[in-house]
Amino acid sequence: MNDQDLLRYARHILLNELGIEGQEKLLQARVLIIGAGGLGAPASLYLAGAGVGRITLADDDVVELSNLQRQIIHTTDRLDQAKAESGKLALHALNPSVQVDAVVRRLLGSELEDAVAQADVVLDCCDNFATRHAVNRACVLHRKPLVSGAAIRFAGQVSVYDMRDDASPCYHCLFPEADEADEVSCATTGVLGPLVGIIGSTQAAEAIKLITGMGKSLTGRLLCLDALTMQWSSIGLQRDPACPVCGHR
Ligand SMILES: [Zn+2]
Repeated sequence: MNDQDLLRYARHILLNELGIEGQEKLLQARVLIIGAGGLGAPASLYLAGAGVGRITLADDDVVELSNLQRQIIHTTDRLDQAKAESGKLALHALNPSVQVDAVVRRLLGSELEDAVAQADVVLDCCDNFATRHAVNRACVLHRKPLVSGAAIRFAGQVSVYDMRDDASPCYHCLFPEADEADEVSCATTGVLGPLVGIIGSTQAAEAIKLITGMGKSLTGRLLCLDALTMQWSSIGLQRDPACPVCGHR
């Protein structure tokens, strides 16, 4: 780290639990963020600010006017641009030393697997069950920690599925694919803008903890927020031994 880096990251380096060693790990880290929307926006901004060396931002969507109420990496003058490219501009403006790979398509199949295999931590910031399950399967296969967030209306939830930990459940242990018939979208039900900021920022905090090894992650715990009452609750999670995705572990 040069003097500029020491200054830029000073408030993290001052934390005894993080320090120079933790900052070096962040600078070397590679993070895959699936989705550059409401959750991916704050998550990617905080990770770029923290100096994560390389961030892959994947999203196949374009910036729409109705996104700007909450998707804080996008701007009015970038309407109709690909979200991944718009996000890359925002992250570079914040921290030019972060290498950002903008993927302007939905990662599927072997391309998704390759991206997961190359990442140290994966953030699921998407808005549909099909992608969530595909990302989870790739994380199980490559034993990568998955930081999963979701938010709709006034309800948010976040957890970590750490595939390096034999006791950790996977996303499928909790949310089997058979249950996804009643998928709801914020396009039809609405979502409180700052709620995605809270949940996405929590995902960034968990990613930083996983990369630096400090503290205790949300592995085995589902953290839920009701923003209307601002009540947080936490549910203990168990592995499903019969899980078709991770049961063989
Ligand atoms: Zn499982």
